[in-house]
Amino acid sequence: MQRVRTDAPLVLQLAPIGPLADQGLREEFAAVRLWEQADAEAWLAAHGAEVTCVATSVRRGCDAALIAALPALRAISSWGVGFETIATDAAHARGIQVANTPDVLDDCVADLAWALMLAAARRIGAADRYVRDGHWRALGEFPLSTRVSGKRLGVLGLGRIGAAIARRGQGFAMEVRYHGRAPRPDTPYGFEPSLMALAEWSDFLIVACPGGPQTRHLVSASVLEALGPRGILVNIARGSVVDQAALIRMLEEGRLGGAGLDVVEDEPGAPAALRASDDVVLTPHVGSATRETREAMERLVLDNLRAFLRSGRVLTPVR
Ligand code: NAP
Repeated sequence: MQRVRTDAPLVLQLAPIGPLADQGLREEFAAVRLWEQADAEAWLAAHGAEVTCVATSVRRGCDAALIAALPALRAISSWGVGFETIATDAAHARGIQVANTPDVLDDCVADLAWALMLAAARRIGAADRYVRDGHWRALGEFPLSTRVSGKRLGVLGLGRIGAAIARRGQGFAMEVRYHGRAPRPDTPYGFEPSLMALAEWSDFLIVACPGGPQTRHLVSASVLEALGPRGILVNIARGSVVDQAALIRMLEEGRLGGAGLDVVEDEPGAPAALRASDDVVLTPHVGSATRETREAMERLVLDNLRAFLRSGRVLTPVR
């Protein structure tokens, strides 16, 4: 697609984002769609110097090579709250603002974390398959599950989503503690300076910290061992945070109680060992995937661009 308007700043869209954002980018910003160019490299060589704004998603990202190919770039508006696929250091070094879509998805991701925790503890997936297979509970036939109410909830990463997860614990009379790089004195929950100690204490451990190299395999074999044969791990953050080979081994050996996973290593798709286990509940990375939240995220992609073009500042910058 060639550019229609030449009076407006050139916005380059790197990948489809969603119907609302795609329409807004096309109609309001006359965005050029890079993936629709017959030869993206040739387009970048010819027009890269004119691009001032990029619209992208956490899935597509924006790497350092692309940033280098856009010498006039001043803002990147990305869909999604994670930004490990965006070369933020390279962007910030050039004074390029990077925006993501935080806050608007906290409740839905927290809801899904709870859904996974309840489903893993109460064996909802296995029970659903049991009924669909034509069975019904004869006394003592379907395995007993694990109580949630009144138990101990550990949160790894008490950020926006982690705090929303923790708040829901109150309704289930749970004691909540958390681990992060620093305590948050503004919250009522206990801080554990060591993740191992948090795992040892927790009945349920929910992972809600960012992905990327800094947190890779933070949930190690030892952490899973500390969570123990009755402990349940929930991950709504990124697959990379959990040592998945260790997780599979622990589940197979009965050294971990169960897992609820919205994210896994090497997405898309989950390994056969996880798919085969009745102790595991899986969802396909849909933490924010409700109609309401996805619409709000798409709006924020557009609002960040509007704010930048109006005032020179995006609304929700990644720092
Ligand atoms: P956030 O507000 O930035 O919170 C992240 C939390 O993680 C902070 O409390 C931070 O605290 C902690 N943290 C950062 N580095 C850490 C480390 N090395 N060790 C331990 N804790 C660390 O982010 P958010 O909006 O809550 O989102 C969290 C993550 O959820 C995102 O990065 C994304 O990957 C994931 N996510 C998943 C979905 C989904 O669909 N499943 C949807 C949205 C987001 P300190 O800085 O004090 O350590």
